[in-house]
Amino acid sequence: MNRKARVFVAGGETLVGAALLGALHENGFSKLVGLGPYEPDLTDAAEVDAFFADTLPEYVFLVGGKSGGIGLNRARPADLMLDNLRTITNVLDAAHRYGATKLLYLASSCAYPKHAPQPLRVESLTAGPVEPTSEAYATAKLAGWKLCTAYRRQYGCRFVTAFPANAFGPHDDFGADAGHVIPALLRRAHEAKVRGDRVLTVWGTGTPKREFIYSRDLADACLFVMERYDGEDPINLGGGADLSIAETARVVADVVGFRGQLVFDAGKPDGAPLKGLDSSELLALGWRPATAFRTAVADTYHWFLQHCVTEGTVHARAAV
Ligand code: GDP
Repeated sequence: MNRKARVFVAGGETLVGAALLGALHENGFSKLVGLGPYEPDLTDAAEVDAFFADTLPEYVFLVGGKSGGIGLNRARPADLMLDNLRTITNVLDAAHRYGATKLLYLASSCAYPKHAPQPLRVESLTAGPVEPTSEAYATAKLAGWKLCTAYRRQYGCRFVTAFPANAFGPHDDFGADAGHVIPALLRRAHEAKVRGDRVLTVWGTGTPKREFIYSRDLADACLFVMERYDGEDPINLGGGADLSIAETARVVADVVGFRGQLVFDAGKPDGAPLKGLDSSELLALGWRPATAFRTAVADTYHWFLQHCVTEGTVHARAAV
Protein backbone atom coordinates (compact mmCIF):
# COMPACT_ATOMS: atom_id res chain seq x y z
CA MET A 1 0.00 0.00 0.00
CA ASN A 2 1.35 3.33 -1.06
CA ARG A 3 1.51 5.67 1.96
CA LYS A 4 -0.05 8.38 -0.22
CA ALA A 5 -3.09 6.25 -1.15
CA ARG A 6 -6.53 7.47 -0.09
CA VAL A 7 -7.71 5.20 2.73
CA PHE A 8 -11.19 5.07 4.23
CA VAL A 9 -11.96 3.38 7.53
CA ALA A 10 -15.72 2.77 7.34
CA GLY A 11 -16.64 2.79 11.03
CA GLY A 12 -13.82 5.04 12.24
CA GLU A 13 -15.45 5.66 15.59
CA THR A 14 -15.84 2.01 16.53
CA LEU A 15 -13.42 0.15 18.78
CA VAL A 16 -11.55 -1.37 15.83
CA GLY A 17 -11.95 1.70 13.64
CA ALA A 18 -10.32 3.98 16.21
CA ALA A 19 -7.40 1.56 16.58
CA LEU A 20 -7.05 1.30 12.80
CA LEU A 21 -6.93 5.06 12.34
CA GLY A 22 -4.21 5.18 14.99
CA ALA A 23 -2.22 2.44 13.26
CA LEU A 24 -2.60 4.03 9.81
CA HIS A 25 -1.44 7.34 11.19
CA GLU A 26 1.57 5.76 12.92
CA ASN A 27 2.47 3.94 9.71
CA GLY A 28 2.61 7.18 7.73
CA PHE A 29 -0.65 7.06 5.77
CA SER A 30 -1.36 10.71 5.16
CA LYS A 31 -4.56 10.64 3.09
CA LEU A 32 -7.18 9.28 5.42
CA VAL A 33 -10.62 10.25 4.14
CA GLY A 34 -13.91 10.45 6.04
CA LEU A 35 -12.42 11.24 9.43
CA GLY A 36 -14.69 12.14 12.38
CA PRO A 37 -17.60 14.32 11.29
CA TYR A 38 -16.68 13.76 7.62
CA GLU A 39 -17.58 10.08 7.81
CA PRO A 40 -20.92 9.47 6.06
CA ASP A 41 -23.80 7.71 7.82
CA LEU A 42 -22.96 4.20 6.60
CA THR A 43 -26.59 3.11 6.78
CA ASP A 44 -27.61 5.83 4.31
CA ALA A 45 -27.02 4.72 0.71
CA ALA A 46 -27.19 8.23 -0.77
CA GLU A 47 -24.68 9.63 1.75
CA VAL A 48 -22.27 6.75 1.20
CA ASP A 49 -22.56 7.13 -2.56
CA ALA A 50 -21.92 10.89 -2.45
CA PHE A 51 -18.95 10.35 -0.14
CA PHE A 52 -17.32 7.78 -2.45
CA ALA A 53 -18.00 9.95 -5.51
CA ASP A 54 -16.29 12.84 -3.78
CA THR A 55 -13.29 11.12 -2.14
CA LEU A 56 -12.67 8.02 -4.33
CA PRO A 57 -11.05 5.90 -1.60
CA GLU A 58 -8.46 3.43 -2.88
CA TYR A 59 -8.31 1.21 0.23
CA VAL A 60 -11.36 0.58 2.37
CA PHE A 61 -11.46 -1.07 5.80
CA LEU A 62 -15.10 -1.98 6.49
CA VAL A 63 -15.27 -2.24 10.29
CA GLY A 64 -18.53 -0.33 10.86
CA GLY A 65 -21.96 -1.54 11.86
CA LYS A 66 -23.44 -1.72 15.34
CA SER A 67 -22.26 -4.50 17.63
CA GLY A 68 -22.57 -5.34 21.28
CA GLY A 69 -22.36 -8.01 23.91
CA ILE A 70 -24.71 -10.85 24.59
CA GLY A 71 -27.13 -8.50 26.37
CA LEU A 72 -27.54 -6.17 23.37
CA ASN A 73 -27.79 -9.10 20.94
CA ARG A 74 -30.71 -10.49 22.90
CA ALA A 75 -32.43 -7.14 23.42
CA ARG A 76 -32.06 -5.59 19.93
CA PRO A 77 -31.47 -8.27 17.27
CA ALA A 78 -33.44 -6.45 14.55
CA ASP A 79 -31.57 -3.17 15.05
CA LEU A 80 -28.20 -4.90 14.94
CA MET A 81 -29.02 -6.96 11.86
CA LEU A 82 -30.52 -4.09 9.88
CA ASP A 83 -27.72 -1.67 10.74
CA ASN A 84 -25.09 -4.17 9.63
CA LEU A 85 -26.91 -5.23 6.45
CA ARG A 86 -27.36 -1.62 5.38
CA THR A 87 -23.77 -0.72 6.18
CA ILE A 88 -22.40 -3.73 4.31
CA THR A 89 -24.50 -3.31 1.17
CA ASN A 90 -23.92 0.45 0.95
CA VAL A 91 -20.14 0.29 1.40
CA LEU A 92 -19.47 -2.75 -0.79
CA ASP A 93 -21.65 -1.40 -3.59
CA ALA A 94 -19.97 2.03 -3.50
CA ALA A 95 -16.47 0.52 -3.28
CA HIS A 96 -17.26 -1.50 -6.41
CA ARG A 97 -18.87 1.32 -8.39
CA TYR A 98 -16.16 3.86 -7.55
CA GLY A 99 -13.34 1.44 -8.28
CA ALA A 100 -11.68 0.94 -4.87
CA THR A 101 -8.37 -0.92 -5.29
CA LYS A 102 -8.97 -3.23 -2.33
CA LEU A 103 -11.37 -3.66 0.57
CA LEU A 104 -11.05 -5.59 3.82
CA TYR A 105 -14.32 -6.54 5.48
CA LEU A 106 -14.31 -7.56 9.14
CA ALA A 107 -16.92 -10.17 9.98
CA SER A 108 -17.09 -11.71 13.49
CA SER A 109 -16.19 -15.00 15.14
CA CYS A 110 -19.80 -15.24 16.37
CA ALA A 111 -20.74 -16.12 12.77
CA TYR A 112 -19.17 -19.58 13.23
CA PRO A 113 -21.51 -22.51 13.91
CA LYS A 114 -22.07 -22.97 17.62
CA HIS A 115 -20.74 -26.51 17.64
CA ALA A 116 -18.02 -26.27 14.99
CA PRO A 117 -14.82 -28.17 15.86
CA GLN A 118 -12.21 -26.16 17.77
CA PRO A 119 -10.16 -24.26 16.89
CA LEU A 120 -12.52 -22.70 14.36
CA ARG A 121 -11.39 -23.17 10.77
CA VAL A 122 -12.90 -21.20 7.88
CA GLU A 123 -14.02 -24.48 6.30
CA SER A 124 -16.56 -24.76 9.15
CA LEU A 125 -18.35 -21.51 8.28
CA THR A 126 -22.02 -22.20 7.38
CA ALA A 127 -21.62 -25.90 8.31
CA GLY A 128 -24.17 -25.63 11.12
CA PRO A 129 -26.46 -23.29 13.08
CA VAL A 130 -24.91 -20.31 14.88
CA GLU A 131 -25.33 -19.48 18.58
CA PRO A 132 -29.02 -18.42 18.92
CA THR A 133 -28.33 -15.36 21.11
CA SER A 134 -26.42 -13.65 18.29
CA GLU A 135 -28.13 -15.22 15.26
CA ALA A 136 -29.42 -11.98 13.72
CA TYR A 137 -26.10 -10.16 13.93
CA ALA A 138 -24.17 -13.24 12.81
CA THR A 139 -26.43 -13.71 9.78
CA ALA A 140 -25.76 -10.13 8.67
CA LYS A 141 -22.01 -10.72 9.08
CA LEU A 142 -22.21 -13.92 7.02
CA ALA A 143 -24.16 -12.06 4.32
CA GLY A 144 -21.32 -9.54 4.16
CA TRP A 145 -18.79 -12.30 3.56
CA LYS A 146 -20.94 -13.83 0.81
CA LEU A 147 -21.46 -10.44 -0.81
CA CYS A 148 -17.68 -9.89 -0.87
CA THR A 149 -17.31 -13.27 -2.58
CA ALA A 150 -20.06 -12.42 -5.07
CA TYR A 151 -18.35 -9.14 -6.02
CA ARG A 152 -15.04 -10.98 -6.43
CA ARG A 153 -16.62 -13.56 -8.74
CA GLN A 154 -18.83 -11.25 -10.78
CA TYR A 155 -16.59 -8.19 -11.06
CA GLY A 156 -13.13 -9.29 -9.94
CA CYS A 157 -13.23 -6.89 -6.96
CA ARG A 158 -10.40 -7.43 -4.47
CA PHE A 159 -12.74 -7.71 -1.48
CA VAL A 160 -11.26 -9.77 1.36
CA THR A 161 -13.15 -11.06 4.40
CA ALA A 162 -11.56 -11.59 7.82
CA PHE A 163 -13.02 -13.16 10.96
CA PRO A 164 -11.46 -11.57 14.07
CA ALA A 165 -11.35 -12.99 17.58
CA ASN A 166 -13.24 -11.06 20.31
CA ALA A 167 -11.75 -7.57 20.24
CA PHE A 168 -11.49 -5.20 23.20
CA GLY A 169 -9.64 -1.99 23.96
CA PRO A 170 -10.01 1.80 24.10
CA HIS A 171 -13.15 3.37 22.56
CA ASP A 172 -15.21 0.29 23.39
CA ASP A 173 -18.75 0.47 24.74
CA PHE A 174 -18.35 0.27 28.52
CA GLY A 175 -22.09 -0.09 29.17
CA ALA A 176 -22.82 -2.59 31.94
CA ASP A 177 -25.68 -4.20 29.99
CA ALA A 178 -24.85 -3.64 26.31
CA GLY A 179 -21.06 -3.97 26.28
CA HIS A 180 -18.93 -7.02 25.55
CA VAL A 181 -17.63 -8.99 28.48
CA ILE A 182 -14.29 -7.20 29.08
CA PRO A 183 -15.50 -3.57 29.01
CA ALA A 184 -18.68 -4.51 30.91
CA LEU A 185 -16.66 -6.27 33.62
CA LEU A 186 -14.08 -3.48 33.79
CA ARG A 187 -16.85 -1.02 34.44
CA ARG A 188 -18.68 -3.19 36.98
CA ALA A 189 -15.47 -4.14 38.81
CA HIS A 190 -14.52 -0.46 38.98
CA GLU A 191 -17.92 0.51 40.37
CA ALA A 192 -17.80 -2.37 42.87
CA LYS A 193 -14.36 -1.26 44.04
CA VAL A 194 -15.47 2.36 44.45
CA ARG A 195 -18.57 1.29 46.42
CA GLY A 196 -16.53 -1.12 48.52
CA ASP A 197 -18.68 -4.11 47.52
CA ARG A 198 -17.62 -7.52 48.74
CA VAL A 199 -19.02 -9.35 45.73
CA LEU A 200 -18.82 -8.90 41.94
CA THR A 201 -21.40 -10.84 39.93
CA VAL A 202 -20.13 -12.33 36.67
CA TRP A 203 -22.75 -13.45 34.13
CA GLY A 204 -23.11 -17.12 33.30
CA THR A 205 -21.21 -20.11 34.65
CA GLY A 206 -17.72 -18.72 33.94
CA THR A 207 -16.83 -21.82 31.93
CA PRO A 208 -17.24 -20.58 28.31
CA LYS A 209 -13.96 -19.78 26.62
CA ARG A 210 -13.13 -16.82 24.44
CA GLU A 211 -10.13 -15.87 22.38
CA PHE A 212 -9.54 -12.17 22.86
CA ILE A 213 -7.52 -9.81 20.71
CA TYR A 214 -6.42 -6.33 21.73
CA SER A 215 -7.87 -3.75 19.32
CA ARG A 216 -4.40 -2.33 18.58
CA ASP A 217 -3.11 -5.78 17.66
CA LEU A 218 -6.20 -6.36 15.55
CA ALA A 219 -5.63 -3.06 13.73
CA ASP A 220 -2.08 -4.17 13.02
CA ALA A 221 -3.38 -7.51 11.70
CA CYS A 222 -5.85 -5.69 9.43
CA LEU A 223 -3.07 -3.59 7.90
CA PHE A 224 -0.94 -6.70 7.50
CA VAL A 225 -3.76 -8.58 5.74
CA MET A 226 -4.58 -5.63 3.49
CA GLU A 227 -0.97 -5.69 2.30
CA ARG A 228 -0.31 -9.43 2.26
CA TYR A 229 -3.48 -11.44 1.63
CA ASP A 230 -5.87 -11.46 -1.33
CA GLY A 231 -7.69 -14.79 -1.23
CA GLU A 232 -11.36 -15.58 -1.81
CA ASP A 233 -11.40 -17.68 1.35
CA PRO A 234 -11.81 -15.65 4.52
CA ILE A 235 -8.89 -15.42 6.93
CA ASN A 236 -9.09 -15.69 10.73
CA LEU A 237 -7.48 -12.92 12.78
CA GLY A 238 -6.36 -14.26 16.14
CA GLY A 239 -3.37 -16.01 17.53
CA GLY A 240 -3.74 -15.29 21.22
CA ALA A 241 -4.68 -17.70 24.02
CA ASP A 242 -8.18 -18.90 24.89
CA LEU A 243 -9.33 -17.86 28.35
CA SER A 244 -12.38 -18.97 30.30
CA ILE A 245 -14.76 -16.21 31.39
CA ALA A 246 -13.76 -17.00 35.00
CA GLU A 247 -10.06 -16.48 34.19
CA THR A 248 -10.92 -13.32 32.27
CA ALA A 249 -12.91 -11.95 35.23
CA ARG A 250 -9.98 -12.66 37.57
CA VAL A 251 -7.57 -10.68 35.39
CA VAL A 252 -10.08 -7.81 35.16
CA ALA A 253 -10.63 -7.76 38.93
CA ASP A 254 -6.90 -7.85 39.54
CA VAL A 255 -6.16 -5.00 37.11
CA VAL A 256 -8.94 -2.86 38.60
CA GLY A 257 -7.89 -3.68 42.16
CA PHE A 258 -11.22 -5.20 43.18
CA ARG A 259 -10.36 -7.43 46.14
CA GLY A 260 -13.79 -8.97 46.80
CA GLN A 261 -15.24 -12.28 45.71
CA LEU A 262 -16.38 -13.24 42.19
CA VAL A 263 -19.80 -14.86 42.07
CA PHE A 264 -21.14 -16.54 38.93
CA ASP A 265 -24.79 -16.01 38.01
CA ALA A 266 -25.82 -19.09 36.06
CA GLY A 267 -29.22 -17.46 35.45
CA LYS A 268 -27.53 -15.23 32.85
CA PRO A 269 -26.74 -16.72 29.40
CA ASP A 270 -23.38 -18.30 28.66
CA GLY A 271 -23.56 -17.82 24.90
CA ALA A 272 -21.27 -19.96 22.75
CA PRO A 273 -19.22 -22.47 24.77
CA LEU A 274 -15.97 -21.97 22.80
CA LYS A 275 -14.80 -19.42 20.24
CA GLY A 276 -11.09 -20.03 19.62
CA LEU A 277 -9.93 -19.39 16.06
CA ASP A 278 -7.50 -21.38 13.95
CA SER A 279 -5.28 -18.51 12.77
CA SER A 280 -2.56 -20.70 11.28
CA GLU A 281 -2.84 -19.01 7.88
CA LEU A 282 -2.22 -15.55 9.35
CA LEU A 283 0.59 -16.85 11.56
CA ALA A 284 2.17 -18.64 8.58
CA LEU A 285 2.27 -15.29 6.76
CA GLY A 286 4.39 -14.04 9.67
CA TRP A 287 2.00 -11.99 11.81
CA ARG A 288 2.03 -12.20 15.64
CA PRO A 289 0.01 -10.33 18.28
CA ALA A 290 2.29 -7.93 20.18
CA THR A 291 0.46 -7.27 23.45
CA ALA A 292 0.15 -9.59 26.45
CA PHE A 293 -3.45 -10.02 27.62
CA ARG A 294 -2.95 -8.48 31.05
CA THR A 295 -1.11 -5.47 29.62
CA ALA A 296 -3.93 -4.93 27.13
CA VAL A 297 -6.57 -5.10 29.88
CA ALA A 298 -4.54 -2.64 31.98
CA ASP A 299 -4.22 -0.23 29.02
CA THR A 300 -7.96 -0.48 28.42
CA TYR A 301 -8.72 0.23 32.08
CA HIS A 302 -6.40 3.22 31.99
CA TRP A 303 -8.25 4.57 28.93
CA PHE A 304 -11.61 3.94 30.63
CA LEU A 305 -10.52 5.91 33.72
CA GLN A 306 -9.35 8.81 31.57
CA HIS A 307 -12.32 8.98 29.22
CA CYS A 308 -15.35 7.49 30.90
CA VAL A 309 -15.04 8.58 34.54
CA THR A 310 -15.60 12.23 35.41
CA GLU A 311 -15.84 13.31 39.03
CA GLY A 312 -16.76 9.84 40.12
CA THR A 313 -19.52 9.38 37.50
CA VAL A 314 -19.05 6.54 35.04
CA HIS A 315 -20.17 6.88 31.39
CA ALA A 316 -20.59 4.02 28.92
CA ARG A 317 -18.77 5.88 26.16
CA ALA A 318 -16.26 8.69 26.13
CA ALA A 319 -17.68 12.17 26.02
CA VAL A 320 -17.18 13.53 22.48
P1 GDP B 1 -19.90 -13.19 22.93
O1 GDP B 1 -18.44 -13.50 22.95
O2 GDP B 1 -20.40 -12.83 21.57
O3 GDP B 1 -20.70 -14.29 23.57
O4 GDP B 1 -20.19 -11.87 23.75
P2 GDP B 1 -19.74 -11.23 25.12
O5 GDP B 1 -18.52 -10.42 24.93
O6 GDP B 1 -20.97 -10.52 25.61
O7 GDP B 1 -19.30 -12.41 26.11
C1 GDP B 1 -20.27 -13.19 26.67
C2 GDP B 1 -19.70 -14.18 27.66
O8 GDP B 1 -19.18 -13.49 28.82
C3 GDP B 1 -20.85 -15.04 28.14
O9 GDP B 1 -20.35 -16.31 28.54
C4 GDP B 1 -21.33 -14.23 29.36
O10 GDP B 1 -22.07 -15.05 30.26
C5 GDP B 1 -20.00 -13.79 29.96
N1 GDP B 1 -20.10 -12.59 30.82
C6 GDP B 1 -19.79 -12.53 32.14
N2 GDP B 1 -20.04 -11.32 32.64
C7 GDP B 1 -20.46 -10.54 31.61
C8 GDP B 1 -20.86 -9.17 31.50
O11 GDP B 1 -20.87 -8.40 32.45
N3 GDP B 1 -21.23 -8.74 30.27
C9 GDP B 1 -21.22 -9.56 29.17
N4 GDP B 1 -21.58 -9.07 27.97
N5 GDP B 1 -20.88 -10.88 29.24
C10 GDP B 1 -20.51 -11.37 30.44
